[in-house]
Order: sequence, then C-alpha cells, then structure tokens
Amino acid sequence: MPDVFADLVGQEEAVHELRRAASAASAVLRVGAAERAPALIAAAPVEGVAPDGPDPSTGMTHAWIFTGPPGSGRSVAARAFAAALQCVHGTGCGECPGCHTTMGGTHADVRMVVPEGLSIGVGEMRALVLRAASTPSGGRWQVVVISGADRLTEAAGNALLKAIEEPPPRTVFLLCAPSTHPDDISVTIRSRCRVVPLRQPPSTAVAEVLVRRDGVAPDVAQWAAAAAQGHVGRARRLARDPEARKRREAVLAVPRRLTGVGAAFDAASALIEAAEAEAEASVAEADTTERAALEMALGAGGTGRGAAGAIRGAAGQLKELEKRQKSRATRAQRDALDRALIDLAGFYRDALTMALRAPVAPVHTDTAAVAGAGAQKWDAEGSLRRLEAVLACRTAIEANVKPRIAVEAMMLALWKG
Ligand SMILES: [Zn+2]
Repeated sequence: MPDVFADLVGQEEAVHELRRAASAASAVLRVGAAERAPALIAAAPVEGVAPDGPDPSTGMTHAWIFTGPPGSGRSVAARAFAAALQCVHGTGCGECPGCHTTMGGTHADVRMVVPEGLSIGVGEMRALVLRAASTPSGGRWQVVVISGADRLTEAAGNALLKAIEEPPPRTVFLLCAPSTHPDDISVTIRSRCRVVPLRQPPSTAVAEVLVRRDGVAPDVAQWAAAAAQGHVGRARRLARDPEARKRREAVLAVPRRLTGVGAAFDAASALIEAAEAEAEASVAEADTTERAALEMALGAGGTGRGAAGAIRGAAGQLKELEKRQKSRATRAQRDALDRALIDLAGFYRDALTMALRAPVAPVHTDTAAVAGAGAQKWDAEGSLRRLEAVLACRTAIEANVKPRIAVEAMMLALWKG
C-alpha cells in the first residue's frame, strides 16, 4: 500500500511540511516516554507556560488550518496528517494499524466532523471539545478534524477557540476551510493556527492519480481531469459515474438552448429541478436509515408506565432529526447547483479565452466547438459578461438569495448578453 500522502495530488510543498511535522511529533512522544514517564501525566500544561503544545521550532504544533479551493484536497490532507500522527513509525507508512484505522475512519483517537447541514452548531462543538480533551487511548494523539471550519456558527467558533487557546497536552486540531479570510475563519482562531495552503492541482496530476489509483483509462482520465477544473473528487465521479456525466451534459447544453425569454425561464427551472433531484437522491438513503434507527431506539409503539412521557420526548427527538435532515438536504441542493454553475462558468471561460485567442486548453473539450461559435458571436466582451453573470449567480446564492431567483436572473443575462 502506498503511504498516506499518496492521494494528495499535486501538493508537494504541503506534503513535505506535514511529513516533517509528523516526524517531529513522533520525536516529542519519544522524549516524553524516555524522560517523563508516565508521559501523559508529566506532559500536562504548566501554569504560566504558553500552552502551544509541542515546540513550534520542531515543526509540530497543535492547531492547523488547511486552505485551498474546493477539491484541492483539504480534508484529504487533514486525514493523511492525522494518520501520520497516529502512525507507529511517525511517517504515515500506510501499513501499520495507526495508519490503517485512521484512513479507514475507525481510529479511536481521531474524530472527523463533516458538516452535513449549513452550519456546525455549538452543541456539537462542545461535545467534540470535551471528548478531545481525554487521554488518547492509543498513547499518541487525540486528533480532531473539522472539515468545514468555515461553517462554524459564532458560538461554535468560540467553543473551539477556547479549546485551541488552552489545548490539552496531547490534542491536535486540524481545520479545513476555503481560505483564511475572516468570512471563512475568525481572525482569533486563525492567529492560533499554522496554515497549510493547498493549490488547485494541475489537471495532469489529477489525471495521473485517476489512472494509477482508480484504474481509469488514460484518455478518459485526461478528459475528466480537465472538465473537473482541478477538483479531484469531481474528476473521479465524472470518470466513473455515468449519471454524473449525464448531468454535466445537460448543464452544458444550456447555452445552446437560450433562444428567448421563455427558454431562459425553462432552462432555469430545469437547472433547479435537476439540482433538487440530485440532492434528494444523495440524502434519501441516509434519511430513511436515520429515522428507522431513531424509531428503533425510542421503542416505537411502546405502552405501559412512562410510555406517554417517552412519546413526548420522542416527538422532540424526531423533530430535531427532521430539522437536521432538512438542513442537510438544503446543503446538498446548493452543492449540486454550485457544481452545475462551475461547469457553466467553464463553458463561458472557454468562449472568452477563444475570443481572446489565448493559448490555453479549453476546460470542456467536448463543447469546445460550441464555445468557439459563441466566441465569434459574442466576442470577448460578450463572453466576459456571460461569465460574470454565472459568477454573480454563485455569489448571490452564497449570500442567501433564493436559488430560483438568482438562476432566473442569470439565464436572462446569458440570453441577452
Ligand atoms: Zn503507519
């Protein structure tokens, strides 16, 4: 098995830094074991000493932020680093039990928070911080990975900040966020963390990993890597999932269909409904399983003493579950719609580069001819205006404009130019 960093595509600098830090962390544990046995008690923070965890000069610290564009591998990097911290060799060998269980998601001392809804709440964060403070059962580190740190509520952010400011001696926090902009991560949290910036991986590197790891044919891998615009997970889906390819084709057919006002509104409806259907399919199974599990746990249909009170409590829990599921569905819809908008932006970007005769490869090789025709008709200026209309739609949805309204405005702008 290749080592734990093998899937981190095109991020040589980051991998180098993480390897160094993991080996430094391992050295900290060895020193602890030799000089201060039992290490975990002796390593407790001393009053008045800056609780910065292991000495930063060794390359290790207790709080990290992985930043980069979507698909660049923020959570892949965080998980690989977590594995390297739990690795018995301190390298992330990919073969020892520490590496294996972390990569498989079953290590007892590694917690992954993946926000399913629109935000991570304070309750979830407090519970997490509390558990993260316990002694690592494997004798190495407690690692907490927060993969959508930009989705922390303010209260959750404060709970996390407290934990980062006074970290338990063996706890490491790994946050993932698009950037260190204050909109994504609070300035105070940022100031306590080391930042590992990831870049958009070049499409040749993405294609290479699809071939090597997923056994995709080289020509398909190259097409998918270009079409996914550096998003590794998206490239893999396009290469392997016919449904994902069909959805993409439907989106890329939009520019040709915009022949009038009516057609623009139809295209908007189609795009919204496709995103809804895709989202529903992606969460339906989890919804049903969760509900069944909760009903089972609550002993649905119970009678006798206490049953009435139990039912009242059960109603509250079911309501809570429904609220969580609704938030997750909204998130999934927005993600699906955003993917469609990125594909569409790629099309108009192709038209723009062609109008400018820029010597760059098109994003969507399969619609390059249509983009070329658009470039002739619209020229650079018209292509740019259309590209901007797509980007403005993304920004509007991010700012909570109702998706249908934003998409309709975009379609009209794409039609009129
Ligand atoms: Zn290992």
